[in-house]
Amino acid sequence: MLGAIAGDIIGSRFEGEAGPPRDFTLFHSACRFTDDTVCSLAVADALLGARDFAASLRSFVRRHPRRGYGGMFLRWAFVDDKPAYRSWGNGAPMRAAAVGWLARDEAEARAWAEAQAAVTHNHPDAIVAAQAVALAILLARRGMPRAALRQRLGSTFGYDLVADRALVGNGFDVSAAGTTPPALAAALEADDWESAVRTAVCRGGDTDTLACITGAVAEAIHGLPHDIAAAARGYLTDDLRAVLTQFETAVRSQIS
Ligand SMILES: [Mg+2]
Repeated sequence: MLGAIAGDIIGSRFEGEAGPPRDFTLFHSACRFTDDTVCSLAVADALLGARDFAASLRSFVRRHPRRGYGGMFLRWAFVDDKPAYRSWGNGAPMRAAAVGWLARDEAEARAWAEAQAAVTHNHPDAIVAAQAVALAILLARRGMPRAALRQRLGSTFGYDLVADRALVGNGFDVSAAGTTPPALAAALEADDWESAVRTAVCRGGDTDTLACITGAVAEAIHGLPHDIAAAARGYLTDDLRAVLTQFETAVRSQIS
């Protein structure tokens, strides 16, 4: 989960750009947490038992309103009982990390990923993308080797995850189907978390969300270095840090 947050923060200052040189500074004073972090923690909060996905997302967004949300999502968040609007955007996969860490098996991961997506992103592309991210995390944290993981995700979700093809830039693409394969490919081809996120950010476009998804999956594959974890935690507000700590405690107690 903190891998997703760190990716969001690192990618935040390059959103909409062509992609910086690979040796860019990871944590810069222009970095900030964005909608990806807020929504990821809202989904975690819901899974921890506080309330349903829609109520949790609305509560978190209203507490952190100026974080780069899409217009449709923001309108949904500020109107109680506004229905899902069939978004195919990358908001569904970008907030799915907690599912992969808390689900006990594949069926649960897929069901929860769909449920959290469908409150806004009830489009098949968005649901599939959220399930792919959740399943990638579940399988990776259980130790599935990268080659097998690449093959499994490719065949299950119909994604081309061969890095040479998946990582070709496609401009500012906010679709779930256009964001998730390159984000997964970046996590799968790298040998460590930082390299994965550098690859995602350097691709350019929707860099915070690319790096959020890459960072989420790369944490499960490679682990998150302590210095990066500490730096990312430092960008959060107290209320978000508290949810993160609660989530980490829940993951630890589930694994032990
Ligand atoms: Mg964002």
